[in-house]
Amino acid sequence: MPFIPRFLADAMLGHIARWLRLLGYDTLYYKSISDWKLLKIAKEEDRILLTRDLGLFRRARKYGIRALFIEDPSVEKVLALISIKYNIALEFNKENTLCPECNTQLKYTTSIAEVSARVDKEIVLKYKEFWICPSCSKIYWQGTHWRTISAILEEARQEKLKILSRIKPLERKVSSEGV
Ligand SMILES: [Zn+2]
Repeated sequence: MPFIPRFLADAMLGHIARWLRLLGYDTLYYKSISDWKLLKIAKEEDRILLTRDLGLFRRARKYGIRALFIEDPSVEKVLALISIKYNIALEFNKENTLCPECNTQLKYTTSIAEVSARVDKEIVLKYKEFWICPSCSKIYWQGTHWRTISAILEEARQEKLKILSRIKPLERKVSSEGV
């Protein structure tokens, strides 16, 4: 089994938590939580702490907790960075996506009968694929906002390539100097 990272986002990174869930990665997020509790959960559940707080990041590292300090909170850059560091896929997988609201695995369905009672008729007529959250009961479909989501993921992939191209020449330099 490949290692699948699980995350814990601090109170300033709710938007990143939603993105990671969309991409299928188990990510906890609390609007209001103390630093010690974040550290406790990260340690006990072996989660990677994502934080914008340098002090918290340093404390996490001191306690042997894996943590990533997020300097620039732009979604594309953060996703690119997490993808490089923890090998997460920057692709939407319709069979493996979590509820952005509550972090529960969504159930994919093309059955109109399953959703027709709970979403508007126009939506049922217009879309063929739906995702149902068994926990909070929300229903999702790839509506007009989906184009933005796809564009942001594409930008994140480009950003990843840019970062990698900056890292590689440095590594080559080091190894050739070592010979
Ligand atoms: Zn949910």
